[in-house]
Amino acid sequence: MCGIVGYIGYREAVPVLIKGLEHLEYRGYDSAGVAFITQKTGHIHVIKQKGKLARLKEDLRDVHLTSSVGIGHTRWATHGQPSRANAHPHMDMAGQIALVHNGIIENYAALKKELQHQGMTFQSETDTEVAANLIGSYYRKGCLVEALQKAVKRLEGFFAFAVIAKEEPDKLVVFKRSNPLVIGIGRGENFVASDAPAIMPYTNRVVYLEDDEFAILTRQNVQIFSLKTGKRVKRKPTTIHWSIAQAAKGGYPHFMLKEIFEQPRVVEMILKTRLRKGKIIFEKLDSKIAERLKHTQRIHFVSCGTAYHAGLVGSYMLGECLRVPVTTTVSSEFRYGDPTVGKHDLVILITQSGETADTLAAMREAKNKGALTLAIVNVVGSTIAREADWVIYTYAGPEIGVASTKAYLAQLATLALFSIFMAQIHPKGKIGHTKIHSLLRDLSKLPLQITETLKLETKINACAKDLYSKRTFLYLGRGYNYPTALEGALKLKEITYAHAHGYPAGEMKHGPIALIDKNQPVICICPRTSHTYEKMLSNIEEIRARKGIVLSVATRGDHAVQKLSRYTFFITKTEEMFSAVLAAIPIQLFAYKVASLNGRDVDQPRNLAKSVTVE
Ligand code: GLU
Repeated sequence: MCGIVGYIGYREAVPVLIKGLEHLEYRGYDSAGVAFITQKTGHIHVIKQKGKLARLKEDLRDVHLTSSVGIGHTRWATHGQPSRANAHPHMDMAGQIALVHNGIIENYAALKKELQHQGMTFQSETDTEVAANLIGSYYRKGCLVEALQKAVKRLEGFFAFAVIAKEEPDKLVVFKRSNPLVIGIGRGENFVASDAPAIMPYTNRVVYLEDDEFAILTRQNVQIFSLKTGKRVKRKPTTIHWSIAQAAKGGYPHFMLKEIFEQPRVVEMILKTRLRKGKIIFEKLDSKIAERLKHTQRIHFVSCGTAYHAGLVGSYMLGECLRVPVTTTVSSEFRYGDPTVGKHDLVILITQSGETADTLAAMREAKNKGALTLAIVNVVGSTIAREADWVIYTYAGPEIGVASTKAYLAQLATLALFSIFMAQIHPKGKIGHTKIHSLLRDLSKLPLQITETLKLETKINACAKDLYSKRTFLYLGRGYNYPTALEGALKLKEITYAHAHGYPAGEMKHGPIALIDKNQPVICICPRTSHTYEKMLSNIEEIRARKGIVLSVATRGDHAVQKLSRYTFFITKTEEMFSAVLAAIPIQLFAYKVASLNGRDVDQPRNLAKSVTVE
């Protein structure tokens, strides 16, 4: 997600912080800031700004304060829109400490109430300021470490912190739970950052902090402690041999591959944030919207590209959970189609960027006609997120690769939760407690199952080597995995420039079967749990009969499919509803590998833009 940097040493701190943040820009951000303790006054000075680092640098041009300890941050908003007030660093009310934070504090609302009761006021909408005030409430002069320890014990969620205290100008304290932090070891200076590129201009000796560890950095020393035992942890520094550019990609050759491998964590984070003790939680759901959701008579998914495929999966999910008609339309058709929607319709807009021009226009059209609009968006504070009646954020973190991968899986996981939620609140919910229980159980297994599926990489590489020179590919699936077929074909054409076509397998006989001969690869998505499994099996037989090259995605142990396929990619057995989540992994990896074997610019394929803000 965002970027954290911290410095303590003999150099001028602010330029070190800014340079560090520049090396973290690849991670994506919407605002930036620094806090440092000035040598002259001993005060903490905070300078922050919405927008790019260039704006922050402009603000810093007139600041002539010297400092050798500070923290910096590039924010990727999750709680509160991108704005100067919400930008980090945040200070506690008494101005004793400054904090930068990466991640989400799930129980911030309850803590905020508690602190407000104690008379505290807040300048921002962030979860981070709550943490800053909590640390501040425990702070006693000279005891920053203890205050941080007490505070993190009360925090739930995913976070990395870096903190400085006015009264302790020779110290920088950091903590990590889930979100990354790496410490850079220098001579007479030490560094901390979310990722190594920020510190690599100064040192290549690093120590990676592990979960629930905190570290105290002084100019001469770095000490790491375990939160649980309170005991010192000894860890030898490792030496980084990568270049800065390689390090930004976490050692992966492309951002796309890195993002594919981030998917278990993304889904885990969504589930941990939205699913608590069997209860599905969506913030900003006020009683008026909840009431309208209950009275929804029709649901429309409206989106473009990969998000359109997510909408299609969503329509199957809602179809399984609710006896309410659901349609899926691409935004450009919806907006010009004079859609028949009114106050009993729910229009769900799905977009990674929240700026997709056609989806924005479709949303305005739906709103004008009185429909309830729900935006499922990744970028907090984006136009569609702001204008929709209600927004559910997908928390996938910034996606750099133009071809969407982790944002797609985040959309699917969010849609699964939303569908089950609708089954719980809507009078036409058509699944009972037992089914809901079993769905939630399987849902929570997904992060591990995604990790397992990613192990297919080696096998997929071998398959791609065999087929990468082919110029046309056909993808087939049914039900939940008809959209997977579409998404597989889209991924492949986006980054390989080969022609690929996704089709509902039942339609094969009505046209595409004419394509099949011994040179035609056909990717068949055929999980055993699908209620159309047998039909899919017959499709595969038909392809085989015409000597087509069958690649299949099947449930582990399904030898019937394996026998008919040249390559079989096994996924774990899961509820049919989630098969599209697991099946997405091999098709992403396949597209990626075919593209890189063809020497394509995987992260920035020709003619494509990450955020399509023109129609
Ligand atoms: N949740 C925090 C915020 O919205 C931190 C976001 C980040 O990781 O940049 O400010």
